[in-house]
Amino acid sequence: MSFDLDLSSRVVLVVGDAQLSRRALAEAVAGGARVTSASASEALSRLGAIEPAVDLLVWVDGPQGTRDTLAALARELRIPFATAEPVAPTPHGQVTLVGGGPGDPDLITIAGRRALARADVVLHDRLGPRDALPDLAPGAELIDVGKTPGHHAVPQREIERIMVEKARSGLRVVRLKGGDPFVFGRGGEEVAACHRAGVPVHIVPGVTSAIAVPAEAGIPVTHREISRAFTVISGHVPLSEEELSHAVGLGGTLVVLMGVATLPHLSAGLRRHGMRDDMPVAVLERGFTESRRTTVTTISGVLEAVTKASVRSPAVIVIGEVVTAIADAANDVMNDAGDADLVAAIHGLA
Ligand code: SAH
Repeated sequence: MSFDLDLSSRVVLVVGDAQLSRRALAEAVAGGARVTSASASEALSRLGAIEPAVDLLVWVDGPQGTRDTLAALARELRIPFATAEPVAPTPHGQVTLVGGGPGDPDLITIAGRRALARADVVLHDRLGPRDALPDLAPGAELIDVGKTPGHHAVPQREIERIMVEKARSGLRVVRLKGGDPFVFGRGGEEVAACHRAGVPVHIVPGVTSAIAVPAEAGIPVTHREISRAFTVISGHVPLSEEELSHAVGLGGTLVVLMGVATLPHLSAGLRRHGMRDDMPVAVLERGFTESRRTTVTTISGVLEAVTKASVRSPAVIVIGEVVTAIADAANDVMNDAGDADLVAAIHGLA
């Protein structure tokens, strides 16, 4: 398109998505015009102003109805109206943040599997379904950005840099995260990094270990008349006195992730703020693996129990009456076995 008008110092309004309009914008700028890019609806309100101060309207893209209205308005206002071809967007890559679930490949969503199957690059962590990746993402370069023993994790900024760089080179990038991407996974930061870089980003939620690992062990995070709230807490940094007090005060289930190292501080703090000594606790290590292990104890006995069992991360810690809820309910019905036996049986300890 070339404008058969002298554009120098004229005000040109280019209507449409800025990407699609980039050729029209460049031509108008080259002609010496003062150029503004506007969406169809922005253009409508601009032309509706009392003195629109527009010398040329260039239509690129938008709803046909808006185009007709704008053309009529321009005629009325005696503003020349031109049409320019949209430029097809250059093919560019994208990032999909996929929640990989708690480790069992059967617990990735169908959307997550699809994204993996189409991926050119997968950046993955230590947790999640990493062993199944060669099958799930057969065409992809697999980049391990997680912590492995003796190895430092790739720093967060570096992960974001690789992700953005690969996407910018036109590749379909999957950032695979354990559980759900927005539960303590720094997923929000990675999405923000894509936004800053102008890289399209999609999010596929996942099955979080905070609910799934207790479920696997037969522990419901809520249970009628027993717990009507569950609070998922990161134990990465010890809780403040205020947080401890509210955690006890709320009275529901506490689910703690990354909490093995800070368990002494947590259990002491909860008791100091009034949690009863015999509050049931379950420590669930390596959920959804063959080496998973469940330790059921109480808040006053938990330190001794985890020391004795040499509990290690990754583990989900559940604190609350739900730990024994199913056993208690079964016990009410059967009424012929001790709680301890049933809890042990349900958790596979008997
Ligand atoms: N985004 C993840 C959590 C990341 S924080 C999610 O939604 O599940 C990592 C912590 O999650 C671990 O320290 C551990 O507390 C917990 N975790 C994740 N997967 C686990 C598993 N399979 N078994 C036990 N704990 C797990």
